[in-house]
Amino acid sequence: MSQSTSNERRADVVIVGAGLAGLAAARRLAAAGKDVLVLEARDRVGGRTYTRPANDGTPLDLGGQWIGPTQERIAALAQEVGVGTFLSYDSGNNIEQRGGQRHFYSGPVPMHDPLVSMEVIESMLNLNMLAREVPLAAPWEASEAQAWDAQTFATWMEANVSAGGTRSLLTLAIQAVFSAEPRDLSLLHVLFYIHSAGSLNQLVSVTRGAQESRFHGGSQTVSNRVAQELGERVILNTPVHSISQDEHGVRVEADTLLVTAQRAIVAIPPALAGRLRYRPAMPALRDQLTQRVPMGTVTKIQCLYETPFWRSEGLSGQVASDTGVVRITFDNTPESGSPGVLLSFIEGDEGRTWGDRDADERRAAVLSCLTDYFGEKAGIPYEYIEQNWAAEEYSRGGYAGYMAPGVWSMYGAALRRPVGRIHWAGTETATVWDGYMDGAVQSGERAAEEVLAASTERQASL
Ligand code: FAD
Repeated sequence: MSQSTSNERRADVVIVGAGLAGLAAARRLAAAGKDVLVLEARDRVGGRTYTRPANDGTPLDLGGQWIGPTQERIAALAQEVGVGTFLSYDSGNNIEQRGGQRHFYSGPVPMHDPLVSMEVIESMLNLNMLAREVPLAAPWEASEAQAWDAQTFATWMEANVSAGGTRSLLTLAIQAVFSAEPRDLSLLHVLFYIHSAGSLNQLVSVTRGAQESRFHGGSQTVSNRVAQELGERVILNTPVHSISQDEHGVRVEADTLLVTAQRAIVAIPPALAGRLRYRPAMPALRDQLTQRVPMGTVTKIQCLYETPFWRSEGLSGQVASDTGVVRITFDNTPESGSPGVLLSFIEGDEGRTWGDRDADERRAAVLSCLTDYFGEKAGIPYEYIEQNWAAEEYSRGGYAGYMAPGVWSMYGAALRRPVGRIHWAGTETATVWDGYMDGAVQSGERAAEEVLAASTERQASL
């Protein structure tokens, strides 16, 4: 990888962003013999995957980390660059904290109130069924698209869910999957997302679900290895600010570098793509789309202990709580079994409220929740590491961008459609496992294929 200097470069294709999407696109294009350059704003690759060592060297994933069944593209890429996986810890009792009471359960759905459990399962089946009606490449073409996109998930719950306990658990599932609130999300987007992942069960489950496995050495290792392969083609510390195009090609500009190329792939979330300056300006629909795809709000926290003490108490480390700054936790202990690592998320409204507060105050609130869930020991980790993704200049939130009501049906067509010589990648443009690492890889590979098809067409017409 090279550091940028004040200069001008030429390439066949220039890619903005060295997250999994941009790197997957570059890898595909380089394999096809294209001269490609990837411009990355940060001093590292991987974007929303970011692995940082704890003081003792334990690799901690501060961003995306889990891989699950059917996530074939990230699995294939990881295998090709030699990064293996191990199973997440998923044994023992999960804790449900509801109305100040603690209950134990196993599997993805808390079971202590049979009526609530039945309604949750019924709602999940219902949502899975509706989701299958949403075409993944064009959600706005679902027969009920207009009606589904005119309501939020909260509105759907009001009309379709009777028990308060069911609403509370579905709300928690939405917060955990989208790091946003039920009132923020179009029902059509929730259904699209469920279909894109396969089912709601897959989204929320550990075993047989999206949280099933983790990468040896952390998820960023995949991006690091791909970047190593690409070598000098990846240029760090180079935030792009402008892209212009004409009939001859594109000009992609950063403060210290100008790249001219035949085509560009913009592999950053729509909310950030909308902040670049385009000449000529973007078509109205595309620009208005990028005004309307906000990022979720999440702070991810890892607490380290000498041992995963909860395991010997028969606990899995997983919590589902209806209150508190932290409502979801997982056991994030490395495969070796030590140190013990508890993973907490602050999501949606809690993320918005707590993200701006004083770090000590936030830490105290998080540890107080962990003490409630796991006892005194949980309140005294020997190391505490947090990452607020909304505060990251080159992410501005996570896990991903999401659609409020009206966006898919009115603006969806502009999400992937290239604008002249500019192509769009990034997990938000994926059809399968949208929002996930797998979707990022799919989107990059798809954008690379678009570029290759365009250059074949051009050669044929010469
Ligand atoms: P990004 O990773 O955002 O890559 C975009 C790149 O572009 C970044 O490197 C950024 O620095 C760069 N960039 C931005 N602006 C510019 C600019 N102007 N010029 C140049 N470069 C720029 N997914 C899973 O599959 N499993 C999980 O367990 C999981 N958990 C998550 C937990 C958290 C806390 C977060 C934040 C995300 C999680 N995700 C998870 C989602 C997953 O990380 C993302 O879907 C995926 O990494 C997105 O990849 P991307 O390449 O599309 O975008």
